[in-house]
Order: sequence, then C-alpha cells, then structure tokens
Amino acid sequence: MRRLLVAGNWKMNASVAQTEALLSALCAAEFSCDVAVFPPFPYLAQAVQTTGNSTVRVGAQNVASESSGAFTGEVSASMLADVGCRLALVGHSERRSLYGETDAQVLEKTRQLLANGLTAVVCVGETLEQRQAGREEAVVAEQLALLLRELSNYDWRNIVLAYEPVWAIGTGETATPEQAQAMHAFIRSLLQEKDPALAAATRILYGGSVKAANAAELFAQPDIDGGLVGGASLDATEFSAICQA
Ligand code: PGA
Repeated sequence: MRRLLVAGNWKMNASVAQTEALLSALCAAEFSCDVAVFPPFPYLAQAVQTTGNSTVRVGAQNVASESSGAFTGEVSASMLADVGCRLALVGHSERRSLYGETDAQVLEKTRQLLANGLTAVVCVGETLEQRQAGREEAVVAEQLALLLRELSNYDWRNIVLAYEPVWAIGTGETATPEQAQAMHAFIRSLLQEKDPALAAATRILYGGSVKAANAAELFAQPDIDGGLVGGASLDATEFSAICQA
C-alpha cells in the first residue's frame, strides 16, 4: 500500500556546514519510510552529493512555472532535475500568502515538475479564520480543483499532497490527529471522485508543527501517509526520531 514519506522543509535556513552535518547524520540512519529533504536552492547540489546513494531524496522548495528564458531569479524544473533533485514543493502556504502564488501557478509549476520527471509535493491548507468560519473543506477543495480537473490520472502518479493547516505551521499548535484525519479523509474523497485507484495510491502528508512527540499518533491515522516537517527538520536527532515514528 502507501509507503510513509517524511519530508523536511528547511525553509530559508541552512549553510554549507549545516547541510553537511544534517545530511551526514540522516544518511547514517536507516528508516523504514521514505525520507526527503528540501534545502534552499544554493545547497541542493551539495545535498544531492552528500546523500549520494543513500535512500534520502532531495527536493526544492519552489520551482518556476515557466520552462526557461528571461525570468530573472527563477529556477526551472529542468535545472532541478539536472542537479539531481527528485521532488519539489509547490504551493506552500508561505508561497501563497507572502508571494501571492495562485492555484493557476501551482498547476503550471506542477506541470513543469511532472514534465521533467520530478514528483510534485503540492501543499494545501486553510487559515485559522477560514476554519473558524467552517470553510476549511471548501478552501482545500478549491485549492485542489484545478489540479484534479486539468491533470490526468497518469500525471497524478507523481503527485504527493501535503495538508498543512496554516494555523498549525510554525506555531507549535498541531491539528489533533482527529482533525487531521478528517481533512485527509475529505481530500481522499475528492481523489476518489476522480478515480478510486488514485485515491488508494496517493500519499497525503500532514504538516504543521510535527515533532517526535506527536508524529506517531498522527502517522497512525488511516489517511495520513507521513509528514511535511518544518522547524523540527533542522535538528538531525529530532527529524530522525520523526522518521522512526
Ligand atoms: P512547521 O512547518 O513544522 O515548522 O510547522 C511545516 C511546514 O511549513 O512545512
């Protein structure tokens, strides 16, 4: 069935020395789940090299929605593939809220990744205000609508979803396992409407203040297939403990 995936989103944190230290520690461990890390762009090639032929995969935190050309400051999916990245995050809530990333851009970025053989880890999630208004399912359904409509079942084989309630990101506040499971089951029901096989196969990660202390309970939920970990992924011991959960 679905193999658990634990992914570390380093955000805008790292140095050459930290990348080396974190990844050497991670590669020395053995995990029964899939493990991926998402360092900032300048450290990707180093991360690919350091992880070598270990099972740890390296991904980027963002990707351009265009393929190449005059887009100063952007990094294309083909460049990511060229340096050995296997995945990339798309539509993280910080990209959506701070940089105005739209659902249309999320779709284009996902297309670029898929066309270059990378896995897209597409992030969705509601704000506290939206949850308090009882709109969390509507918001998440809206964020997924274009992807479900425009991409084929074949495309979806290389998509991982990450449900990250915005109110739980970096706040120390985690969704309860019940809250997270309910949303994951809802997301899976949306996939089910497109194709039952897709619903059964697609991994849906939970993100938002995942730590060693709460990971096991979250990952034990039937529709939670691992985690997207921010803050706790910067500590090799803590992140390894999450991967062991
Ligand atoms: P957090 O971040 O674990 O620090 O809450 C998760 C994320 O933003 O991916």
